[in-house]
Amino acid sequence: MKTLYRGKIFTFTTKATLSNLQGVVPDSLFVNDEKFIFLRDGAIIVESGKIVAIGDYLDIKSQLQAEDKEVDYSGKLITPGFIDSHMHATQTSAVSAYGEKLLTWLDNYIFPGEVAFNSEQSARREYEILLKQLFKNGTTTICAYLPSSYDGADLLFEITDKYKMRAVMGNTIMTDGNPKLITDGETSMLISEKLYNKWHKTNRLSYALTPRFALSCTDESMGLCKEFVESHSDAYMQTHLCENVNEIQDTLAKFPWAKDYLEVYEKYGLVHDKSIFGHCIHLSDSEWKRMTEAEVIFANCPISNNYLGSGLFRYDEAVKRNAKLTLGTDWAAGNTLSMLRVMDDAYKVAMLNSFKLETLTRWYSATLGSAKALALDDYIGSLEVGKEADFIVLDPEANELLNYRLESSYDLLDYLFSVSSLGDDRIVAATYVYGDNVYTNSSN
Ligand SMILES: [Zn+2]
Repeated sequence: MKTLYRGKIFTFTTKATLSNLQGVVPDSLFVNDEKFIFLRDGAIIVESGKIVAIGDYLDIKSQLQAEDKEVDYSGKLITPGFIDSHMHATQTSAVSAYGEKLLTWLDNYIFPGEVAFNSEQSARREYEILLKQLFKNGTTTICAYLPSSYDGADLLFEITDKYKMRAVMGNTIMTDGNPKLITDGETSMLISEKLYNKWHKTNRLSYALTPRFALSCTDESMGLCKEFVESHSDAYMQTHLCENVNEIQDTLAKFPWAKDYLEVYEKYGLVHDKSIFGHCIHLSDSEWKRMTEAEVIFANCPISNNYLGSGLFRYDEAVKRNAKLTLGTDWAAGNTLSMLRVMDDAYKVAMLNSFKLETLTRWYSATLGSAKALALDDYIGSLEVGKEADFIVLDPEANELLNYRLESSYDLLDYLFSVSSLGDDRIVAATYVYGDNVYTNSSN
């Protein structure tokens, strides 16, 4: 059976890139451009979890048979689900912790909380809350750091699989530091191997080797990570890089042979096109150059960076270099799961560096740009025939102020800018994962 969803449609096309979306000038209230599609009265048709048609409603409704269904979201915006490229599935109970920068915030709030994930009961409850909140915020794909233990990590793979959700995840490897959380390198690798074998490329799931950051790993375990990456070249790798100035100083003190932070990861073979680096704020020219040459994935998290006072990401450099830029919440240092709020902070951070990070560029980085960076754009990131039906329905009218602001909206860019500037979970009317309705806002 097919289902048609009618509404305004906005999606990027394969022609969009990070760089070519800067400077697009719309020529009328609602424009079509080869880099994106906007349909005022459009529709998508979904069958068995995939998009089978997209177009003007009147053009494609004839494809429905008597037994098919139609869902009317007229006036609302149907757009791809958001991709949160950096978040911690273990930190929900520690959100909104007061008054610390990165290293003391980890010691005081995060590490003690993560110990709770040794209990299946606590982990299950927190995961269910987390997923509910993600869907409520319109996020359909995550790259997530999981607990260090096999059972704690396996459980979230199991739950996301139940929702048919696309996710890139891995057990957080910690072999140095807090004694209640660390595991020895060999045990960590056995856990990684077991999770990779069970879940990598199972349904919509992918495995990411996840050394937390260089400070939480011994030389020996970094060496084991290198061996893992060499023997599992299709796995992702995710870690943190150059988030905080004290973190950088401590890293260089711990690995004195390294000329900069990136070299620590380079030595252990962790800098490649499936490597997702969280934050990347304080990079030297040389690090920018080496990272873009290696085609790594940048996962910047402006809300977290502001929350922890970490610093301002150089969006101008990322755009200039056409870097594989993605956006993340860094939940729960980022104190929201809303990618609309993340887009808003990205704009403000860029402004603090006197750079206009344009609306389309930010929407792209939270959808198709992220999918392309993760090499998942054959499946997700835009609304195109053959792709998986991960989409959301936004209802700007649900926010009275936004609704009023849109009365004087003058073109598509202004419309999208206002939605990302004033929108949050209140305007997410519905979320669909692989064609299934996983969230409906009862007040819309
Ligand atoms: Zn993080």
